[in-house]
Amino acid sequence: MAQKKTALITGGGRGIGYGIAAALAREGFNIAILDVLPEETVAANLEALRAAGAGVLYCRGDVTKAADRNAALDAIDKNFGALNVLVNNAGVAPKVRADILAATEESYDFVMGINLKGPYFLTQAAANRMVANKKQDPAFPACIVNISSISSTVASPSRGEYCLSKAGVSMATRLWATRLGEFDIPVYEIRPGVIQTDMTAVVKEKYDKLIAEGLCLQKRWGFPDDIARAVAMLARGDLPYSTGQVILVDGGQTLPRL
Ligand code: NDP
Repeated sequence: MAQKKTALITGGGRGIGYGIAAALAREGFNIAILDVLPEETVAANLEALRAAGAGVLYCRGDVTKAADRNAALDAIDKNFGALNVLVNNAGVAPKVRADILAATEESYDFVMGINLKGPYFLTQAAANRMVANKKQDPAFPACIVNISSISSTVASPSRGEYCLSKAGVSMATRLWATRLGEFDIPVYEIRPGVIQTDMTAVVKEKYDKLIAEGLCLQKRWGFPDDIARAVAMLARGDLPYSTGQVILVDGGQTLPRL
């Protein structure tokens, strides 16, 4: 029997990341999660992943800390043999939405550290391990998926640091796709629109109204499962010759219209 493949999902304890973990568990993956939340608070979610048949490894840690990133990768190698799919999902919005004429350096560093710097160096560490495995066995299945946002191209001056971080994630996708192409390790970007999670709970009423008024072509919120199904397609290997591609999951929100 073929060995189970393993996926690492950052921020997989809840929200979109958990949706991705659940979809990949249903696809037959072992699931590793790197998330700052205490394990007790996500215990029910982890149990559901196990009930779906997945081997589950929860690594409580911070994606901005090199020691936590490396500990998660070591634990994956030890428990599951190797990492096949990295999903860079963990991300934060600014704690306070502030006009870029007034926003603080503290908020900039907080958002950029988690959304851009942490995933960049996690990708570096994971990619080096994937390359080593590919050199041993060219058929070793491996890919990387970045969860960006439509904010990588849509300017919101009340959260400039978030937009900058996501624009950086889009460039990181292109950089890693370019560097890892020779090893046949595809790197993709999923670009979500407005998705119903705790992150958007604070602006739910605002977006309920905007969606009803036609913000998106498809008149509904996106759900974590919309993102998860796109990731599952990539993790399964259904888009093998499309490295560097961006997949919009935004209900048509950013389609140019007249
Ligand atoms: P949530 O806030 O619901 O979940 C994010 C998860 O990541 C949480 O479990 C969070 O823990 C964890 N996390 C936060 N900081 C770190 C860290 N330093 N290290 C490890 N884990 C961390 O967010 P969403 O599920 O809504 O968002 C997931 C991704 O999708 C993000 O990258 C976001 O930018 C992106 N996205 C979301 C959209 C939306 O509309 N919801 C739209 C477009 C993109 P804790 O709860 O403790 O902070």
